[in-house]
Amino acid sequence: MTDWKTRTKLVHEGIRRSQYGEMAEAIFLTQGFVYPTAEAAEARFLSAGDDEFIYARYGNPTTRMFEDRIAAIEGTEDAFACASGMAAINGALTSLVKAGDHIVAARQMFGSCLHILKVLQGFGVEVTLVDGTKLDAWQAAMRPETKICFFESVSNPGLEVIDIAGVAAIAHAQGAVVVVDNVFSSPIYSNAVAQGADVIVYSTTKHIDGGGRALGGVVCGTKDYIRGPLETYLKHTGGAMSPFHAWIMLSGMQTLDLRVRAQAANAEAVARAVEGHAQIARTIYPGLASHPQHALAMAQMGSGGTMVCLDLKGGKEAAFRFLNALEIVKISNNLGDAKSIATHPTTTTHKNLSEEERAVIGITPGLVRISLGIEDGSDLVADISHALDMI
Ligand SMILES: *Cc1c(COP(=O)(O)O)cnc(C)c1O
Repeated sequence: MTDWKTRTKLVHEGIRRSQYGEMAEAIFLTQGFVYPTAEAAEARFLSAGDDEFIYARYGNPTTRMFEDRIAAIEGTEDAFACASGMAAINGALTSLVKAGDHIVAARQMFGSCLHILKVLQGFGVEVTLVDGTKLDAWQAAMRPETKICFFESVSNPGLEVIDIAGVAAIAHAQGAVVVVDNVFSSPIYSNAVAQGADVIVYSTTKHIDGGGRALGGVVCGTKDYIRGPLETYLKHTGGAMSPFHAWIMLSGMQTLDLRVRAQAANAEAVARAVEGHAQIARTIYPGLASHPQHALAMAQMGSGGTMVCLDLKGGKEAAFRFLNALEIVKISNNLGDAKSIATHPTTTTHKNLSEEERAVIGITPGLVRISLGIEDGSDLVADISHALDMI
């Protein structure tokens, strides 16, 4: 680790050059490694050094470059790269609990995160879901056997902002570990380690790839945790990132800071331009003064982020008319992409929840989630404003 600034680290940190001195990060598309002697193989299995690899399910030079780079950006000692964001979340949670343990989690969460909690309950782990924005709810749910407090720092899709430092103080007083799904903040607007998070998870499929090309995930934390329980769990259960995807993530990271800042500027421009439009019941953007956790968002992230939600007055019908009138913004379900994307959670990403469950987490039939890309901001404002007028 050096004292380089983020943009410099995003381009140079973690690079491992081979004897050829290649400029770009090399893809080591190999599952295995050759040992010069039987004794060398024995020694490596006993204890592998920093630049010694055994099998790509445990680690690979390209994957390790990505892990070193993201750990340097996030400010953690180490990181483990995973096949997807969900593999990372599953590893982060499952490696920390056993039957009889207890997890407190925010109820406003991505559906697959809630599913993992259900699976763990089936194996005897107890789970309490709370309104994540209320620190007294976290406090009230804590038990002596609570091992993890888990939440999305900005929730998908409702954009609730959860106080990392506040939850960490409550968790740490009980000896619980704080696991944060930090996708919506992105590593650019994350200061999660300083705010008390112990384990930080990203779906790299989103801003880190930035081009909507490859699935990936990563768990960031202390060396003891990452190379201890987490690596042990993931290397035996097969959740590792492929070297090819690590190479895509490394190239995506070079432009991460430039992209995310441009995306956040576009999100803010769109939110300000459309707030108060006659067709919108509520414009949800943490960067707007009208957002319930606006002050927290600015203190925690220093930005409103790259996502805007519009709750349209006319329900599903209005949402569909709006989506169908968009030209630049694409209808899809990824986010963090260079291309702007709009999603109707009720009929797509969150369709498996009951209407009541959706209501609890703020997903109304009129809700549209927009991930702003890096296109020209005035084009995006015009496209989205025009689609609102077409409702
Ligand atoms: C997309 C997403 C995930 C899952 O990541 P995958 O890479 O799709 O497995 C988890 N949490 C949040 C908040 C997400 O947006």
